[in-house]
Amino acid sequence: MGSEELKTTALKAPVCEVFFSYQGEGLYAGLAQIFVRFAGCNIKCGYCDTAYSLKVSNKAQYYTVQSLLKKIKQISSKNKNNFYKKTSVSLTGGEPLIYADFLAALLPGLKKEKFEVYLETNGTIPENLKKTIDFCDIISMDFKFASECGKSFWSEHKRFLEISAKKEVCVKCVITNKTLLSEVKKSAEIIKSVSKNIPVILQPSIDKSVPHIKNLYIFRSEMKKMLPFVYVMPQMHKIMNYK
Ligand code: SF4
Repeated sequence: MGSEELKTTALKAPVCEVFFSYQGEGLYAGLAQIFVRFAGCNIKCGYCDTAYSLKVSNKAQYYTVQSLLKKIKQISSKNKNNFYKKTSVSLTGGEPLIYADFLAALLPGLKKEKFEVYLETNGTIPENLKKTIDFCDIISMDFKFASECGKSFWSEHKRFLEISAKKEVCVKCVITNKTLLSEVKKSAEIIKSVSKNIPVILQPSIDKSVPHIKNLYIFRSEMKKMLPFVYVMPQMHKIMNYK
């Protein structure tokens, strides 16, 4: 075994769950995917709907690169009639990019199997994105607002978007009853400064922090002044009550 291979074998990451389902958010809603939900997150959002994934609890299972690849391949072959041309693998969490070294070892294996790599991320760790970007096909990044997440990440989001722009990227903003118009406008300015053609999904919260429909309308109208592709879409899996 070479030293690189030894290093890869030693790498492990905590994963809450690996499962087959349909993407419930954004531009790819309805796409059949294998979801790999990493445990642990670097921030805390008031609306987080996967609280069980925020900390590395004893329910998380530690996978090596090889054992996770094996698990993904098993689920892929069990559901092979469900995928389109390629098996799409969503890396989600928690925040997958806190395990950037693990991902940098895992993703070449996924690409070798001709899987499509879909990264779902909070967009706050651009330096870790750099380690994995070459193996990602689609990046769905969030813009996180201080009104729900305690602090803003404007410079991190801008840098993240600049790195992502060489791939297919879309931005998601969760809108709650605390979201400020100034936050929505600032997001639009940053996105426009990278590329006005990046699509944005405004995702209204559908739990206790539901935004007023009038505000949603205003937010979208203001964004549309700067960006041509702005959509409003809630989480479909919540409405349909699937995982
Ligand atoms: S970034 Fe995602 S996983 Fe982390 S706290 Fe926010 S919503 Fe939850």
